[in-house]
This record gives sequence, C-alpha cells and structure tokens, in this order.
Amino acid sequence: MTKENHGDHEHHNHLRESETYYAARTKALESLFREKGLIGIDTVDRVIRFFEHDMGPFNGAKVVAKAWSDPAFKARLMADANAGIAELGLKDGIEGENLRVVENTATVHNVVCCTLCSCWPWPLLGLPPYWFKDPVFRARIVREPRAVLLDFGVTLPKEKKIEIWDSSAQVRYFVIPERPAGTENWSEEQLAKLVSTEAMQGLDLVKA
Ligand code: FE
Repeated sequence: MTKENHGDHEHHNHLRESETYYAARTKALESLFREKGLIGIDTVDRVIRFFEHDMGPFNGAKVVAKAWSDPAFKARLMADANAGIAELGLKDGIEGENLRVVENTATVHNVVCCTLCSCWPWPLLGLPPYWFKDPVFRARIVREPRAVLLDFGVTLPKEKKIEIWDSSAQVRYFVIPERPAGTENWSEEQLAKLVSTEAMQGLDLVKA
C-alpha cells in the first residue's frame, strides 16, 4: 500500500491485499496437504462443489417458495420441519438434526441468532456468513434488535413484535419471511429467487 492512499481507497486496498494474502496462503496449504498425501487431488474442489450445488441458501429458498405456494405444506413444515424438508428431497444431516421453522406475519417478525457461538441451519442455508459469527452482532441483536435490523437496512413498523430465537446445538431455527405483495401468480422458481440468506434468519425483508 502506498502513502498517498486515503480514506475508503486505502481501506479498499487493504482489504484487497489481505484477500490476496489469504488466497495465496490457502493455495500453499492445499498444495502442502496434497504433497503429504493428507488430501486427495480433488478434495478441495469436491468440497467447494458440495457447497455450490448441494448445500446452500438455494435449499432454504426452495422451502420458503413452497411454503408460500402451498399452505398445507407450510402447516406440515411448521409442525415438523425435518419431515417437511424431506418432502422436498432435502436431507437434514449434520447441523440440522432438529430444525424449527418460525413464520413472519403482519404482527410478528422473527430474528434468529446464536448468542453462544454460530449455530446455523446448514442443510438449508449452507455455511454461516461472517456477520452471524460476529460477537458484536450476537450481543446486540438480543439487546437492541431494532437498531441492528436498521444496520441491515430493515425498518419495521413500531407496533410489530420482534421475537428472537437463539439457535443452539439442539435446535436450529429458520424463518419463513412474509411473501411480498404482487407475487400472487409467481411460480415457486420465481419466488425462490427473491429470498436472501438474511431473510431466512429475519435480517432482511423479501421484496418483489
Ligand atoms: Fe452456536
């Protein structure tokens, strides 16, 4: 980094430099692990493919779209989330043995956190994002949820009740966001594309 960089520009360069550093470091570790025969030639690629195609937020979005489109499915899902996702051919597996679904409505907004660490519904959302693990987020979300939601760009009407759910090793929570107006005739595929990872933990609203 050069001395004439200032403010945002400097910050940006700094981030880029550390990204390059970690990428190079990761590559070096991968090569070393291969050389020593600790991992196979395609192990890392297989893991990346798994999180790109098999386990990621696209699973959760599929569940939300189905729940919005099929009230009977939603009822079954809310009664037994693990059985519900199995209907869609999704596996619960590790980190999702006990899933629980909560629904946002006109009167209640649900937010999920893990105050202790970073328990997250992996089968539905893939890897937990950075913000979820951040100790400041975990401490603030239970004390001042409205202020934290504002940081995420979410403003709720004053009269809306906020419920906070603390995920743990025993139970992983998952939010069905409110379906946006004007999507009445949309297909499940179209609806799924609207649903962000954050919305499925109550930190984003779904907009059409
Ligand atoms: Fe945790």
